[in-house]
Amino acid sequence: MSGFIPTIGLEVHCELKTETKLFCSCRNAFGSEPNTNTCPICSGHPGVLPVINRKAVEYTVKAGCAIGCRISRYSKWDRKNYFYPDLPKAWQTSQYDLPLCVGGEVKINVNGEEKTVRLNRIHLEEDAGKLVHGAGTTAVDYNRCGVPLMECVTEPDMHSADEAVAFLEELSAIFRYAGVSDCRMQEGSIRADVNLSLSRPGEPLGTRTETKNLNSFRSVRRAIEAEIRRQTELLERGEKVVQETRRFDDATGEGYGMRSKEDAQDYRYFPEPDLMPVVLGDEDVERIRASLPELASDRRRRYMSELGLAEYDARLITGDPAIADLFDGAVGAGANAKKAANYIMSEIMRKGKTAGEDGVVIGISGVQLAELIALVEKGDINLVSSRDVLDKIWMTAMTPSAAVSELGLKQNNDAGEIEKLVRDIIAANPGPAADFRKGNEKVLSFFVGQLMKATKGKTNPKIAGELVRKVLSE
Ligand code: ZN
Ligand code: MN
Repeated sequence: MSGFIPTIGLEVHCELKTETKLFCSCRNAFGSEPNTNTCPICSGHPGVLPVINRKAVEYTVKAGCAIGCRISRYSKWDRKNYFYPDLPKAWQTSQYDLPLCVGGEVKINVNGEEKTVRLNRIHLEEDAGKLVHGAGTTAVDYNRCGVPLMECVTEPDMHSADEAVAFLEELSAIFRYAGVSDCRMQEGSIRADVNLSLSRPGEPLGTRTETKNLNSFRSVRRAIEAEIRRQTELLERGEKVVQETRRFDDATGEGYGMRSKEDAQDYRYFPEPDLMPVVLGDEDVERIRASLPELASDRRRRYMSELGLAEYDARLITGDPAIADLFDGAVGAGANAKKAANYIMSEIMRKGKTAGEDGVVIGISGVQLAELIALVEKGDINLVSSRDVLDKIWMTAMTPSAAVSELGLKQNNDAGEIEKLVRDIIAANPGPAADFRKGNEKVLSFFVGQLMKATKGKTNPKIAGELVRKVLSE
């Protein structure tokens, strides 16, 4: 052990899911043909004037309310000047000294321990375009130019990669619930910069580095671990950590220095002369606050205290608002909370998993789910055939019982009929039957398996098991 403690602060950039861009009426959409969602304003033509997107301001205030920020009644815009091909105006319209939201906090849970990560601020700014590197060329796509972006800056309250990832997961869940951002890492709609330094206990914080633009939880974790290793080795050799901006290369798993860190003065911030300040009244803020839905943490508490779910299960169910809505819908339609949670965690999450994405697709309503669980409980179908029912009703309005009859899945619970089948199968397999009488209990499952095969899985397995034992013991 090196005896060094890492201290980590994050800057999280999060795209808002508004219909249009921050200062013009171009569409804010991911995946369009390059340079189709552009106009003279967002591509930086001279002489044009920006107009503030009211929704973007509201969404940022909503996000701030969701994490307990102080909402500024007066905030203003500033120009952050830098020269890079993805920024056609050569400045980014941002907020410098008077951001929309100040303070706030997010509670995380790491290995069963609750911790608080404080936020310093959330400000609103415009995104830059995207450089697309090809064989020997670099092209620019300006579609992302001017997309509204919240920058959330934390205090240096995290001390491990686990804590940083837990914070990002919780922040994404909050913003998804609040309905202000999809927080899809693979679409670049949430990106994180990591500030990291090492120090010995009781000593002042060491020199920090900033690793920019990490776009998956996995690369955040790997970049933090690599940077802790690098700084530890430097310090142990008696060398100094240089303050700098770094990149992390996902392919090699290593970070590299990009430039010595610029200070705020290098950006020559000055007030944006083309935009009015944002002035909010108490009634504006209260109206926006009142429009917030129940958030992940509130739901989690409710699931644990009122519905008796374990913390782990409550966390999993509330990780995605679509799943939590399904759970609430099923419980509202009469399903037992624990049974609904179990069925969602085992079957629905498997079925709804989308290839290569963070989220799940839900193709069933709460009412359908409640009925499906009830059919399994009543013994009309077993768990295995419930998967066929799920496939049949997925993304349709069909009721589970209609699917059961259409698929001919109704389970046989008639003990008399099952006993007759059991006797036939035992008579046809004298060898295994003799094994059982010699004390080999394992052949029980062989007979149940044969029975299931003969009836295409439509026999109540519990009744079948009991009857096999009874008949063999005669
Ligand atoms: Zn535009
Ligand atoms: Mn920024």
